Amino acid sequence: MRIDIITLFPEMFAPLSASIVARARERGLVKIGFVNPRDFTTDRHRTVDDRPFGGGKGMVMMAEPLYQAIKSVRTKRSRVILMSPHGRRFGQAVAESLSRQTHVVLVCGHYEGIDERVLKFVDEELSIGDFVLSGGEIPALAVADALIRLIPGVLPEGAAEAESFSRYGLEHAQFTRPRNWRGRRVPAALVSGDHARIDAWRRASSEKITKQKRPDLLCVAQ
Ligand code: SAH
Repeated sequence: MRIDIITLFPEMFAPLSASIVARARERGLVKIGFVNPRDFTTDRHRTVDDRPFGGGKGMVMMAEPLYQAIKSVRTKRSRVILMSPHGRRFGQAVAESLSRQTHVVLVCGHYEGIDERVLKFVDEELSIGDFVLSGGEIPALAVADALIRLIPGVLPEGAAEAESFSRYGLEHAQFTRPRNWRGRRVPAALVSGDHARIDAWRRASSEKITKQKRPDLLCVAQ
């Protein structure tokens, strides 16, 4: 899979050079490119934003540099996504479907947003939640990370399956060494070596946690 990120601030994407995503890139499971709309300006000041028609505070990203940036990477198989608080809500199901694409283009607005006429050249808008950030860079990072870890081979086989939101609501509780930490013991089932018992414990834990913390997920899972 290839991901191209259209942004005025590529330096905000350092997290894509660490941890699981960095390893996925090294192993060639995902290629990430950056395109800066500023590289498509023609004036001396390399202007990418301007004041909004009709007045008002803040600056709006101009259509042409964004359009050129999109055009420079789009192919017939690209899915072009604009990060926007107006978009469809991003979630695990969207991440799963995006992880099956061959080319994803993430367009980051900044300042007060982008010239509305660019919308005609994107396939969809995605929002990461009902709050406003100063730019699409943090949303694009969230989307890129969530979908990269779902690309086959990035995580160990089966690791993504039981995770939160994938099927049974929230994931079960996890424990690691030591078995006894300050007098608190790991549940006996998990150290029993009996796989059926471990599975049953995990299912029950997942149900209990989901019921307690996100009962809304149980309703939709049915
Ligand atoms: N004035 C706009 C917000 C602009 S925020 C409004 O009120 O609707 C600037 C940019 O940040 C947006 O163009 C978008 O790319 C990004 N952004 C901000 N919040 C976001 C969110 N919740 N989800 C996705 N992108 C977001």
